[in-house]
Amino acid sequence: LGIPSVTALPAARRTSRKVMIGPVAVGGDAPVSVQSMTTTLTADVDATLQQIAELTAAGCQIVRVAVPSQDDADALGMIAKRSSIPVIADIHFQPKYVFAAIDAGCAGVRVNPGNIRKFDDRVGEIAAAAGAAGVPIRIGVNAGSLDKRQIARFGGATAEALVASALWECSLFEEHGFRDLKVSVKHHDPLVMIEAYRLLARRCAYPLHLGVTEAGPLTQGTVKSSVAFGILLAEGIGDTIRVSLSAPPVEEVKVGTQILESLGLRTRRLEIVSCPSCGRAQVDVYKLAEQVEAAFSGFPVPLRVAVMGCVVNGPGEASAADLGVSSGNGKGQIFVRGEVVRTVPESQIVEALLEEALSREWTE
Ligand code: SF4
Repeated sequence: LGIPSVTALPAARRTSRKVMIGPVAVGGDAPVSVQSMTTTLTADVDATLQQIAELTAAGCQIVRVAVPSQDDADALGMIAKRSSIPVIADIHFQPKYVFAAIDAGCAGVRVNPGNIRKFDDRVGEIAAAAGAAGVPIRIGVNAGSLDKRQIARFGGATAEALVASALWECSLFEEHGFRDLKVSVKHHDPLVMIEAYRLLARRCAYPLHLGVTEAGPLTQGTVKSSVAFGILLAEGIGDTIRVSLSAPPVEEVKVGTQILESLGLRTRRLEIVSCPSCGRAQVDVYKLAEQVEAAFSGFPVPLRVAVMGCVVNGPGEASAADLGVSSGNGKGQIFVRGEVVRTVPESQIVEALLEEALSREWTE
């Protein structure tokens, strides 16, 4: 009847080579990983390590630090040594910092060939140093700093131009027998970005780092990244993701993690099933949902917790939740797997939910 057949999502994962970023595998059969980037001055070792610790606690698996100066390069050794997750050095402009990052024990290096002077001439040396140290390199091509030769050839920063630039740089490394590569082709427009990654996925077997560059503030960046990553990951494309937000990097990790959880690519740790509130609500749903989320974050077992603003659509609508509350008349009906187990004053709802959660053994 012209209705497309329904296929299970996500689709089978694209086959890619596996690289190791320290202990974290990227590509092949490795789970899709979440990464972020610090916003501190890299040369400020304590502040950078503090932010890395916060990112790690939020679930970040790989962290990137910018290396725009010699002071930053000098700090890499201490940061790489003391970080509990692998550190990737992000190098623009100066090839000498690539060697410094490898010497410092960074788990990976990201280069933007369009921004590194005479990069092509130094590829042999970089490949030799990275190969000897077992350090993978990401060829990170961005629309904003695309090689002028490709812009001229394709008439702009098109998806084809991004892919041609990335594959050209890969070929330079391949000439030196180096294939420990990851590739990204970022664009601020999700549609161009999706097209670029689809092309790239067909033309090489390298693991792909997904990103929408300059995605914007929290809400806009989250939506753009979720749409773009969602489409690609559902097609089996993408091995590691970085959500770029004009917001604290911990937010990037939270969004990235939830994208993977929403696609079933990672086990959900906590799901708050909360209603949007309406004229029937008898409690401040937004505030209560935030309080419940805070109380349950870090709960050792994955749980789905419902927060409903009234009893009209309470336990019934939230019957798929493990436990939850529906509010009315200054009270909260606490229910577990659809059955009301107690009624408490509104001020005790969060505490009662936690007590019920802790008093039970939860099975899938
Ligand atoms: Fe409105 Fe009640 Fe539904 Fe919440 S649960 S949206 S308050 S009807």
